[in-house]
Amino acid sequence: MTDSITERLAAVEERIHVACERAGRERSEITLVAVSKTFPSSAIDEAIRAGVTDIGENRVQEAAEKLPQVVGDAVFHLIGHLQSNKSRLASSLFDVVQTVDSIKLGRRLDEAAEESSRRHEILIQVNVGNERQKDGVSPDQATLLATELARFQHLDLSGLMTIPPVADEAETRVFFRRLRELRDAIADRLELETFRKLSMGMSSDYQIAIEEGATIVRIGSAIFGSRG
Ligand SMILES: *Cc1c(COP(=O)(O)O)cnc(C)c1O
Repeated sequence: MTDSITERLAAVEERIHVACERAGRERSEITLVAVSKTFPSSAIDEAIRAGVTDIGENRVQEAAEKLPQVVGDAVFHLIGHLQSNKSRLASSLFDVVQTVDSIKLGRRLDEAAEESSRRHEILIQVNVGNERQKDGVSPDQATLLATELARFQHLDLSGLMTIPPVADEAETRVFFRRLRELRDAIADRLELETFRKLSMGMSSDYQIAIEEGATIVRIGSAIFGSRG
């Protein structure tokens, strides 16, 4: 792989356009989060120079070492599990936290946001396949959690995120669809018009995710290269 980040990003953009066309959607409906875990801040800056607007990291500690060195402007997303004792550090580093899966974590983030006079957009991570080892709430518990998280003054609850089980294309599509239906049900139930976001789709399945309604795709290796 000798392609540059710029070239790989262009190839990803092309495939996003194809998926949008197939689904009758606008490119502007979808946010591309470039997932830079394991890559240095120089790679993040290269991606930003190539046009990336949103960066995702999955570990708070790694982000604390890298993100302060990033020169360019971007929206930073936490896409990995957050322990509530790291909420304050996460709050200082990230704009969006996609992995809220408990009321306790919501409370800690709300407190941290208040202390630093900022707001955070948050998504609820859903364990859409009910897998034993995975983070996230079960689909059954998501509505109750959303009801509670929507009350925090310094958090803007905007939707759902998932990492589906490893599966073939047809099954993956079913998991994505299930997340979309859950989002619609919660938005109805809470009468929350701003609850619209669906973060789903990675390097291997983002085109399927876009066809199934993703508004955020999280793409790492297809942009930065193999993590080795
Ligand atoms: C690493 C990671 C991604 C990106 O994975 P790729 O397969 O490299 O695109 C997306 N989402 C989460 C939560 C991740 O941890």
